[in-house]
Amino acid sequence: MADILIVAEHADDKLKRYSTELAGKAAELAGACGGLVTAVLFGEKREAAAMELGRFGVKKVFLPEHADLASCSGENCSKVLCDLVAKEKPAFVFATASTFGRDLMARSAMRLRTGLASDCVAVSVEGGRAKLRRPVFGGKAVAEVAIDGSPQMATLRPNLFPVPAPASNEPELVPFAAEPGPVRARVAGTSDAESGMVDLAEADRIVSGGRAVGSAENFTMIKDLAAALRASVGASRAAVDAGFISHDHQVGQTGKTVNPTLYVACGISGAIQHLAGMRTSKVVVAINRDPEAPIFSKADYGIVGDIFKVVPALTRAVRRLLSE
Ligand code: FAD
Repeated sequence: MADILIVAEHADDKLKRYSTELAGKAAELAGACGGLVTAVLFGEKREAAAMELGRFGVKKVFLPEHADLASCSGENCSKVLCDLVAKEKPAFVFATASTFGRDLMARSAMRLRTGLASDCVAVSVEGGRAKLRRPVFGGKAVAEVAIDGSPQMATLRPNLFPVPAPASNEPELVPFAAEPGPVRARVAGTSDAESGMVDLAEADRIVSGGRAVGSAENFTMIKDLAAALRASVGASRAAVDAGFISHDHQVGQTGKTVNPTLYVACGISGAIQHLAGMRTSKVVVAINRDPEAPIFSKADYGIVGDIFKVVPALTRAVRRLLSE
């Protein structure tokens, strides 16, 4: 049977939004090919998140238990995932292309000697074979990928699929004693991102600033527009390298891959490495004083103008509209 095992993620026992999307998509695919969806959930204190998975079509949730798994890393979870795959024999293993998902799945595919399609933007299953689409060459082309080997493994970008309407189903919870194997690196601690801000990878709206913003103080202008739009704050690498904002805000090839409904690029030229991280955004608004800036070729709406005039004016307009 073509069962699908997904790697779900949570923070403080709250299921990540992208895991609900993944569960919903897996349930749709499994329904079409007569299989079941199961999930594995790492970390501590995850019972509520595990139960939540049932509402999105997951029938069984595996809960590996070991003191070393309290803080998850791709390294310590990989052997556990591979042991689970060897026992349960799912036809497919899917995870989100999050930092954890990418790390875990690459290590696990190597251990399992099977193929992995990473950072995919579409998935279907035909005749027991997954058909996956993934951007290549910095997003300039899309490759269609099929996987040799078993299980067929893939990571999928967040924000691709709608969050399904939750049902009232309860999954079977399967705690088990796991054997993580030796690790060479441990997570010493984690810290929260700025309070109230959604992680970029999950954000539905993003306002990003580039080199043109000019300073960390001026980033307040970007943050104000983001707050008005209830968006998260992104940045180009030039802005990060200049110290205007921390690296966890960087969008692009060496930053985060985002897939929001709305992406507002302020004073960003649109270098290929930046586009690689945001080109699948649904609606792109670009503000740049150079009408020839490459970002305009990817923009649905372009404003040729000075960000120091346009961004505050937009913020005022958004606040006014939302208060009406
Ligand atoms: P610039 O290219 O300098 O563009 C600034 C823009 O602001 C210009 O278009 C200008 O017209 C406009 N502007 C200036 N003043 C104003 C104003 N007052 N009002 C309106 N517009 C104004 N980059 C990333 O972003 N993310 C990555 O992950 C990334 N990874 C990389 C990996 C590698 C291996 C390499 C080689 C490069 C990478 N880069 C990445 C860097 C990338 O090539 C660009 O250098 C970078 O994206 C440029 O950032 P920017 O658009 O903010 O700056």
